[in-house]
Amino acid sequence: MITISKVKIPSSTEKIIARILGSGKLVQGEYVKKIEEAIKKRCKAKHAVATNSGTSALHSALYACGITSGDEVITTPFTFIATANSIVMAGARPVFVDIDEKTYNIDPSSIESAISKKTKAILIVDLYGQPADYNLVRQVANKYNLKIIEDAAQSIDAEYRSKKVGSYADLTTFSFYATKNLMAGEGGMVLTNNPVYAEKVKLFRHHGQRESSNYEYLDVGYNYRMTDLHAVIGMDQLRNLDYLTKKRRSIANEYNNAFRNIPGIITPFVPDYIKHVYHQYTIRVAKEFSMNRDQLLIYLEKRGIQARIYYPKPLYCFNHLKSLKNKFNQKSIDKIAQQVLSIPVHPYLTDQEVKYIINCIVNI
Ligand SMILES: *Cc1c(COP(=O)(O)O)cnc(C)c1O
Repeated sequence: MITISKVKIPSSTEKIIARILGSGKLVQGEYVKKIEEAIKKRCKAKHAVATNSGTSALHSALYACGITSGDEVITTPFTFIATANSIVMAGARPVFVDIDEKTYNIDPSSIESAISKKTKAILIVDLYGQPADYNLVRQVANKYNLKIIEDAAQSIDAEYRSKKVGSYADLTTFSFYATKNLMAGEGGMVLTNNPVYAEKVKLFRHHGQRESSNYEYLDVGYNYRMTDLHAVIGMDQLRNLDYLTKKRRSIANEYNNAFRNIPGIITPFVPDYIKHVYHQYTIRVAKEFSMNRDQLLIYLEKRGIQARIYYPKPLYCFNHLKSLKNKFNQKSIDKIAQQVLSIPVHPYLTDQEVKYIINCIVNI
């Protein structure tokens, strides 16, 4: 089976892990600092604070910019559940708006009409590894004095108008879950240029304590600390990230060339001011194609290719998010959710596997 993602951990990682185990310093030690420094530099952010998941990074980012009970946060319904759950975890309400039919990211033109007195922030998502249209969101945010948090779980190393993800939003969050472009098994990070926000994330991840103080709790907090074992896995992958991203882009490019002229197959739309990192390569299977999306999925699986749907249901379909005030064009989002299909684009695919996947689809 050609799987949708693949994990490879070099033996160098095992050696360092053995050393850390021997040292006994397993949490928030030297390697956590190292990965914070490395990613901060790489993404040109002033501060980077590691957490134990992308979800805890989102929760911490919302806390840092003061989101609390009764607040509303505008976001996209077409994303992984953790995006909206983190808003609920902060005691606030997610308010869903439209998505752009070409990029599948939040539609900036639909934000303004969803703003109320309770709105405090906009949580944008860089779906599939493609940054949301930040400048347009920024214009609305400035007009109403809202913060922008960027859920960049899928988009490390992507660029928006020549700026790296992590350098421009009020707060940006990454996930280092095993399938993500930079993986550490589990892990996350919050990036910001605001020292006050960075300090708050540090408190929040450590039970509300300053790192240096013992048992002085400045606020409610969680245990969101990253372990050094995970930090090391991430650090070792990071050394290879340029190559891994290049590989994803070159496979995506081959797919684009092969599928571009097939009627009913819609390839990813990437504006020229955006650099996509293809966490997923996602096509849309429209009615002009000879199979529908679900048939194509089964067809590929029968031929040993694992395709996946990200995401089968928009988030307003789920009970705990359903009752919330929603302002969006449900029909259009439902249609997109019925048509998207992601095919393997991970960097460990061989040239032969890429050709095989292309042939399987072109031959239909
Ligand atoms: C993976 C992911 C998350 C959550 O990250 P975890 O590390 O699994 O907690 C949040 N948002 C998006 C868009 C993701 O893809």
